[in-house]
Amino acid sequence: MSLNLDELAPAFIREVIPYKPGKSIDELKREYGLETIIKLASNESPLPPSQKVKVAIEQAAHDVARYPEDAAPVLRERLAKKDGVKPEQIVIGAGSSENLGMLIRCFVSEGDEVVVSEHAFSVYRIFGKMSGASIIQTAAKHYGHDLEAMLAAVTEKTKIVFIANPNNPTGTWLTFNEIQNFLKEVPENVLVVLDEAYYEYVEDENYQSAISLLDQHTNLVITRTFSKAYGLGSLRVGYSISSSDLVNYMMRVRYSFNCNSIAVAAALAALEDKDYLEKNLANNHQGLIYLKSCFDKLGLEYVPSATNFILVKVGERAMDVFNALLKEGVIVRPTVADGLADFLRVSVGLPEENQLFITKFEKVLKEIL
Ligand SMILES: *Cc1c(COP(=O)(O)O)cnc(C)c1O
Repeated sequence: MSLNLDELAPAFIREVIPYKPGKSIDELKREYGLETIIKLASNESPLPPSQKVKVAIEQAAHDVARYPEDAAPVLRERLAKKDGVKPEQIVIGAGSSENLGMLIRCFVSEGDEVVVSEHAFSVYRIFGKMSGASIIQTAAKHYGHDLEAMLAAVTEKTKIVFIANPNNPTGTWLTFNEIQNFLKEVPENVLVVLDEAYYEYVEDENYQSAISLLDQHTNLVITRTFSKAYGLGSLRVGYSISSSDLVNYMMRVRYSFNCNSIAVAAALAALEDKDYLEKNLANNHQGLIYLKSCFDKLGLEYVPSATNFILVKVGERAMDVFNALLKEGVIVRPTVADGLADFLRVSVGLPEENQLFITKFEKVLKEIL
């Protein structure tokens, strides 16, 4: 008998459509033979890495022949201090995506349900399917999460409700009161995973982290990342905060040595570089204002954003505009797969990158629309 992978893999694995990242700069250079490329596609920090981080990486490089200290106790201690929780409540992941995966592996199996919102971060759906869960998707409200609909979608089979606050790819956010009220209503035996990957960027005073709600809600898990505002996208480091009992469960499915010593050293250094974070947030603030004013002038609608990216409505030919921009050396992100076919998501870059994007965007729009 020959090997039949379709038979070997469970049906729910066959049905998974792998996550498709944005095009990389090198890929585009190879494809179109372009020299200058700007990438505003993956919500990364547009600033080069912090000098403090580079120094820490170089120092940590001396020890890479050894396994790292398992589960990064020093980083957990430092984060606990920053976030006002106990180190035992924190799990470090190779990116917060790994924490999301650990939660799914721990608590979700075939036949269970996972509740997500339309236009929410696609990884929740993909990970849920990997465990054979049914994905229950509620309709969006003003492009964001409709918490009432999500609550109504919870059944006896629901194991996890995922909420991105703010959300990617829409940039929408929920206020602290909305989250608080939702947590009061959700059955206690359903986990609420609140993804705060863009927490640092939010300026609305009605927004607040839900960390202060952890004590009252043992079913709450919060995830954070170093991939965005801290500028460590390539190093893969993120974390979750929850009850220590829940951490004990996550430890059962965590791969040993899942956080490497370079990433941990870089994260520790990034936490000490307040200037970098401030510069990043200030650049983002200005960049969003600039992009919004340009979209206004072009008569294009956009979704109000609390993040380092913005969703702009281009119309039916959004994919053509995306492809034409690629040829001009500008990478943005199509959102067809997120149910937003008429839109493109643009990450905020450095001022000169934003300007170049707008120049190319105007040119391409004239040609295509
Ligand atoms: C970018 C992003 C993350 C971060 O993923 P990492 O694995 O930490 O790099 C998590 N959630 C959302 C909604 C994101 O957009």
